[in-house]
Amino acid sequence: MSTDTAVRPTELVAALDAAAQAIESRVIAWRRDFHEHPELGNRETRTAAIVAEHLKGLGFDEVRTGVAVTGVVGLLKGKLPGKVVALRADMDALPVTEEVDVPFASKARTIWNGEEVGVMHACGHDCHTAILMGVASVLASLRDRLAGSVKFIFQPAEEMPPRGEEGGAKLMIQEGALQNPTPQAIFGLHVTSRQRVGYIGYRPGPTMASSDRFSITVHGRQTHGAAPWLGVDPIVTSAQVVLGLQTVVSRGVDIAREPAVVTVGMIKGGVRENIIPDNVEMRGTIRTFDEGMRDDVHERVTTLAESISRGSRAGCTVCIEKNYPVTVNDPALTAAMLPTLERVAGPGQVQLVPKVTGSEDFSYFQQLIPGLFFFVGATRPEVDPAKAPANHSPRFHVDERALLLGVRSLAHVACDWLAAR
Ligand SMILES: [Zn+2]
Ligand SMILES: [Zn+2]
Repeated sequence: MSTDTAVRPTELVAALDAAAQAIESRVIAWRRDFHEHPELGNRETRTAAIVAEHLKGLGFDEVRTGVAVTGVVGLLKGKLPGKVVALRADMDALPVTEEVDVPFASKARTIWNGEEVGVMHACGHDCHTAILMGVASVLASLRDRLAGSVKFIFQPAEEMPPRGEEGGAKLMIQEGALQNPTPQAIFGLHVTSRQRVGYIGYRPGPTMASSDRFSITVHGRQTHGAAPWLGVDPIVTSAQVVLGLQTVVSRGVDIAREPAVVTVGMIKGGVRENIIPDNVEMRGTIRTFDEGMRDDVHERVTTLAESISRGSRAGCTVCIEKNYPVTVNDPALTAAMLPTLERVAGPGQVQLVPKVTGSEDFSYFQQLIPGLFFFVGATRPEVDPAKAPANHSPRFHVDERALLLGVRSLAHVACDWLAAR
């Protein structure tokens, strides 16, 4: 079966599975504890303390805390020489009020961007943190037979830090998460409602979208609604801008190459039926799967909004804020690790999944080193994944059998990659 370029199964296969099995109940307990005590981005102090304590208890060679505010970076050196691989989990929760009926449901509330909100692990990052803690236990127990080092990256604020703060993968990189030593590959996973428990999803190349937000303000001139010719109407102009933006993707993007999305999600202007206001403000989001197309879409949105406004004698301010880059799975790394994922999940349990228009800041790591980000199904077998409440829903529910598969897949992927020449 194996060729020269293929990654061979590590000789640790049976030992990894036994160690993963042995830690499963603790992983579930950690996940429930995190779930009951969720923390928003850059506020993951309790979670990070538990993580750091755990890694220190396992005798890690290094445990750095406070990386990118609350992040934890641990280094586990195997007793045998070898390469360095990184594994990443995100730790933050979302401003969502939980509606799932489980004994460990979150009752947490906090202030987020000046508003009181419920807090919930509605994206499953509680699972990711618990899974990576489990992997830490598994690999630490086998370090005598481990060739190379494993860097454990527990990252805050994947869902964006609060307004006015920096955070997440980008800041972790700035603060040295990928240095001393520098890993040559990185792996991460996400639990998903889109697949049933027991399944793993993967995709080579562009997998998750870039995500950018924009705001467009059309500047008119206020006047009486009964005499529009005395002013400049930003409401009619904005309506034309919204329609014009629909042509950016439909007429301007090579959709045979990659899809894209331009959405206006907010529009605000005016206070009264008989007053034409000075300004209208629109906000929206742009998603692409190619960095060149991303720049092109930004240019088209800006030019269209400005030109349409000029045609109506209105002014226009366009502001596009770049958020996360495209999550691109290194094709060679993905191909090399596919047999490992198939061995771990079982025959027929690994699925090539469609692109996801959501985004991930795992993409920042992948811009520097080859990375593979894959999905672990979390929907109960009896539920149709198409109808299951999606990640970010207040009813997002995880079948906890996904946790063991998560621990095994990351542990095996790390060991197989380290064992490969
Ligand atoms: Zn999310
Ligand atoms: Zn997430």
